[in-house]
Amino acid sequence: MSRYCSQCGKSLKACICQWIQSLPSKVELVILQHPSESNRPMGTARILTLSLANSYSFVGEDFSQHSTLNQLLAQSEVQHFVLYPGESAVSHQRVADKVAAQQKVRIIILDGTWKKAYKMWQLSSNLHALPLIRLPENLQGNYRIRKAPSDNSLSTVEAGYHILQLLQPETDFAPLIEAFNQMIEFQIKQMPPGVFEKNYLS
Ligand SMILES: [Zn+2]
Repeated sequence: MSRYCSQCGKSLKACICQWIQSLPSKVELVILQHPSESNRPMGTARILTLSLANSYSFVGEDFSQHSTLNQLLAQSEVQHFVLYPGESAVSHQRVADKVAAQQKVRIIILDGTWKKAYKMWQLSSNLHALPLIRLPENLQGNYRIRKAPSDNSLSTVEAGYHILQLLQPETDFAPLIEAFNQMIEFQIKQMPPGVFEKNYLS
């Protein structure tokens, strides 16, 4: 018998499936995951793909020749935005208006540390022509497990939650954050006393 859950890919002991709720979303997410993220026990992108039936997840670093992604990008009836900071980023309100007007929107999320995401962005030239969308700057993350470069850096599931909630205020995406918090609580309980405080609180 495998030691890993076939649904969430985590160890059976750390299975997160009991906290996952299936959520309807008109906005589709495309998660581009850096290979170094895919085996991390705290990878949070999984919560997004398990909760959102119409999401996509691909692993790689340079996506410029990724045929499935390029097929998605070629769908002219869908407007694509990359969730990435940049001077030219459009306001989420403008995109929310499109969603409210029943236009099809897909958000591409880069899943990796800041440095890895930057590398992915640089290499994946097929993303460069797409408009950027960014989150408000004052959002607080709860990623206590992972050392964050700054106070407002968010885990991938938190970034996904915020963008979906901002674009679709009529739907409650809080179960994403609840599953995330349960996962953190579980991980903290697994650590020997003092380790969490010593290594992860900063
Ligand atoms: Zn599971």
